[in-house]
Amino acid sequence: MTTTNIWRVKKADDDQLREKLAEAAGQLKEGGLIAFPTETVYGLGADARNTAAVERIFTAKGRPSDNPLIVHIAYREQLDELVLPYPPLAAALMDRFWPGPLTIVLPVRAGVLSPLVTAGLSTVGIRMPDHRTALALLAEAGCPIAAPSANRSGRPSPTLAEHVLDDLDGRIDGVVDDGPTGVGLESTVIELVGEHSIRILRPGGVTLEELQQAAPATTIDNGSAEEPEMAPRSPGMKYTHYAPQGELELVQGDSEAVVAYIREQAGAARERGEITGVLAFEERLMRYEADSVLSLGSETELDAAAHLLYAALRDFDVAGAQRIWAEGCSGDGIGAALMNRLAKAAGNRIICV
Ligand code: AMP
Ligand code: MG
Repeated sequence: MTTTNIWRVKKADDDQLREKLAEAAGQLKEGGLIAFPTETVYGLGADARNTAAVERIFTAKGRPSDNPLIVHIAYREQLDELVLPYPPLAAALMDRFWPGPLTIVLPVRAGVLSPLVTAGLSTVGIRMPDHRTALALLAEAGCPIAAPSANRSGRPSPTLAEHVLDDLDGRIDGVVDDGPTGVGLESTVIELVGEHSIRILRPGGVTLEELQQAAPATTIDNGSAEEPEMAPRSPGMKYTHYAPQGELELVQGDSEAVVAYIREQAGAARERGEITGVLAFEERLMRYEADSVLSLGSETELDAAAHLLYAALRDFDVAGAQRIWAEGCSGDGIGAALMNRLAKAAGNRIICV
């Protein structure tokens, strides 16, 4: 067991913040594992050049070693030592979306990062988080920081420091607690196709529509669905992620049909004595009967829903829900990322009614 320090910086003034982050950054420099808030979810950071430190990330999370890690930087100047020269489109995306929830996969420079970070690929995913505390910690550490989400592998990503501790207390050196994260879902992961096009490998905080403004020829990669024999372009997408402990089913279609289906299924499960959960939008919340009926807010405010999703999935675990039904939503804007995470949480049990 490791003692996990907690640095609470939510109400810290500038001096206190500097002092606490200096301690956390000091541990990162010495090969420590420190969880920290970003604008997406809490990340679990380690010096990306230090193989022993990066190895501890995989052990603490129970993460498969073929799933590469995203490297976080505080300044654009840090990029040149990490990646090979990149096309003007990549620079334009950085100008437009950094700091922000966009991870750009670029050809990695040999020998700089631990090979565990790239999981044997010739590329590395890099981003600059849009979060004051994260940027200050990264700058103070002064090195590229590999940081996957700070949860046990397969569990919902943490949007509060408490979630990090629920999963990783005693397994990591510390957590910087700065309250709830912003977007609530992970970054968008993209790669460039040629000089002018973008392929989205994982939908996230930066939307398809926003990327299409920068590069009209932006497409979404549907993983191995089309070419099942090929390795997915983004290895992490093949795992069942973000899942609550109960069995979740995602229900899509006309809203009256969705309500009828979930009511019938949840009713039958309750009669069998199962502990049930429903994840629904405010508009129809009152129509459901289950042991826990949790709200994602209004279906007209999907940004807020994104923010609520992971905490709700964890709440189902606390309630001991064995069977859970979730309403689907529009796939526009942040809805694409929300539906992607719900489908993953459902292990692709998606019902169209
Ligand atoms: P997480 O760290 O849990 O947010 O997951 C990181 C995601 O980024 C996973 O889906 C990875 O497969 C993806 N990723 C990281 N690096 C690369 C890369 N070099 N090429 C493609 N996908 C990557
Ligand atoms: Mg993750």
